[in-house]
Amino acid sequence: MSEPPYYERLTHLRDSFPAPVSDRMRDAYFVFSIMQALDRIDDMKSEVPLLGEPQQLDYAAAEQATLAEEGRSVEDVARQLVGRLEGMPIWGHPRTQINVVPPPSIPSVIGALLPAIYNPNLVSDDTSYGLAETETAVAAMTSRLVGYDPARSAGIFTFGGTGTTLYGARLGIEKAFPDAMDNGIRGDGVILASEQSHYCRLNVAGWLGLGERQVIEVPTHLRNDIRIDRLEAAARAALDDGRRIVALVATMGTTDAFGVDDLDAIVDLRDRLVADYGLDYTPHVHADAVIGWAWSVFNDYDFEGNALGFRPRTVRALAAAGRRISKLARADSIGIDFHKTGFTPYISSLFLARERDELQLLVRGRDQMPYLFQSGERHPGVYTLETSRGGGGVLSAYANLHLFGRVGLRVLLGHLVEMAELLREHLEGHDSTTVLNDDGVGPVTVFRVYPDGVDTWTIKDRERTDPAARAELLRHNEYNRRLFRYLYDRAMRGEGVHISMTDCYRHTDYGEPVVGLKSFMLSPFIDEQHVERLVADILQARQAIGAPP
Ligand SMILES: *Cc1c(COP(=O)(O)O)cnc(C)c1O
Repeated sequence: MSEPPYYERLTHLRDSFPAPVSDRMRDAYFVFSIMQALDRIDDMKSEVPLLGEPQQLDYAAAEQATLAEEGRSVEDVARQLVGRLEGMPIWGHPRTQINVVPPPSIPSVIGALLPAIYNPNLVSDDTSYGLAETETAVAAMTSRLVGYDPARSAGIFTFGGTGTTLYGARLGIEKAFPDAMDNGIRGDGVILASEQSHYCRLNVAGWLGLGERQVIEVPTHLRNDIRIDRLEAAARAALDDGRRIVALVATMGTTDAFGVDDLDAIVDLRDRLVADYGLDYTPHVHADAVIGWAWSVFNDYDFEGNALGFRPRTVRALAAAGRRISKLARADSIGIDFHKTGFTPYISSLFLARERDELQLLVRGRDQMPYLFQSGERHPGVYTLETSRGGGGVLSAYANLHLFGRVGLRVLLGHLVEMAELLREHLEGHDSTTVLNDDGVGPVTVFRVYPDGVDTWTIKDRERTDPAARAELLRHNEYNRRLFRYLYDRAMRGEGVHISMTDCYRHTDYGEPVVGLKSFMLSPFIDEQHVERLVADILQARQAIGAPP
C-alpha cells in the first residue's frame, strides 16, 4: 500500500514534538531549540532594564493576523516567539522597580517548564500523579509556615490572587447562605474590606453574583491598615439592616504601600458580632496575604540576636510587619501568591483553608459525591472552580520553597526591605521629596516630589488635611505626573531607574486623590548604588522639567 499524500507532512510534524520514548538525537534537538531561543533573547539584552527596544504597540496590525495555509519550522516559530518579548521589562534588573512582579528563580522556571512538557492535570491524581502529592506538600509546608495545622488544613492552587479571594468569599457565601451552591443566594450579603484592599474585591463580588455594591469599603489609618472602629460600625450597620456578612477580608500587605491589617482585632470583632447578634452562622474571615504571606519566615527569627545582621531600621520594619503577619493562622482562609513575593513565574497562587472540612461546602453535586479526603484519593476537581489545572504553579512554588528555605527567604526579603528603607532614608533627607508611606515596613515606597520653594516638612500634612490646600495639592499632583512622564520616557530609552506612579495613593480628608511615585523593589540584584542612582535620577528630573507652569 502506498503512503497517502499527507504522510510525509505528518512525519515532518512529528519532528516538532518531544520524543515519546528515549531518543537522544531528538532530545538534543528539543534542548537545542530551547537553548537557541534563550540565546536569541540574550541578544536582546544590554545594560538597560529592557529586552530589546520598546515598540509602539500596533493593535490594528494585530487584527490583520490570519492563520496561514502552511505552517512554519520549529526554528522559525521560536524566532517569532522571542520577538514577542521585545520591550519587556527585565524584572530581575536592579533598575526595574515598577510593581510587585518578581524575577522568577531558575528552579522555579524549571518547575514551570517540566509540567509544560509532561502536562499533568491537577483535576485529579489520576491525571497528575506525583503533582497531586506535591500540591498537598506545598499546602502543608505553607500551612506550617503560617501556623495552620496541616492535618486539618487544605490548599488548592488557583488562577491568581484574585482566585484566592474568590474562594474565600465563596466559602463565606456558603456559611452565610447555607446551600447557596444548590439554591443560589437568597438575600443580601456583604463583603467588608478596607479602602486600600485590592480591587479584586469588586471582581469577586460581581462575579459571585453578590454585586459590586455589596462591598463595603472601610477607611484605613495613615499606615493603610483598616480602621477597626469603622469596620465594626459598618458591620453592625449591615447586620442591623438584616444583611448577612459573607466575608471580612483582612489585607495583609496592600498592593501600593504594604499596609497590614490587624487580623487579630478583625477575628475578635467577628466573634463579638456572632455573640452580640446571636448569629446562626460565623462570618468568614479571609486574609488576603498574597503579598504579606512570605513575611511568615520571620515568625521565628530572633530579632534581638539578628544573626543575619540587618540594619536597625530594617529590623524594626521586619519586626513591625512580622507582628501582624504572625497572626495569619487566625484567619479562616488565606490567599498566597508565590508569583509575587515567592519569586515564581505566573501563575502560582495558593488558596489555603484552615479547616479542610469546610471545602466540603464547595463540592459540586454534593448529593452524589463521596466525602472528600476520606477515601485516600484526591479528586480536587469536585470542589475546585477550574476543571483543568496545570502543574506549573505547584511545581515552581515547590521549587522555591526548597531552594530558599526559611533563611533564604529571610535574606531576600530582608535585603529588599533594607534597600527600601535606604531609599526612604534618602528621600526623607532631601528637602524636595517626601515619603508618603513613611511608616512603610515593606519593599515598596510611595513618595512625592515638589518644586523649589515648597516646605516639605509641612506640605504633606497640609495637603492631606486642609481643604484650603486643594489647589496646591492638584498642582503638585500634576507636577508629579510630569516628573513621572520624564522618568518614564527615560526608562523607555533604557536610561535611569524604571519606577511607576499611582494616581491615587490615598484620598485626602477632603476627597481628592494624592498622586505618588512608586518604587517596588523585588530584584535580588538591587544594591545601595541603585538606590542612590534612583535618588539622583529624581533630582535630575526635577532640574530637567523645571518649575511648574
Ligand atoms: C496582586 C494582588 C491581588 C490580585 O492578585 P493576582 O494574582 O494579580 O490576581 C490581590 N490582592 C492583593 C493585595 C494584591 O496585591
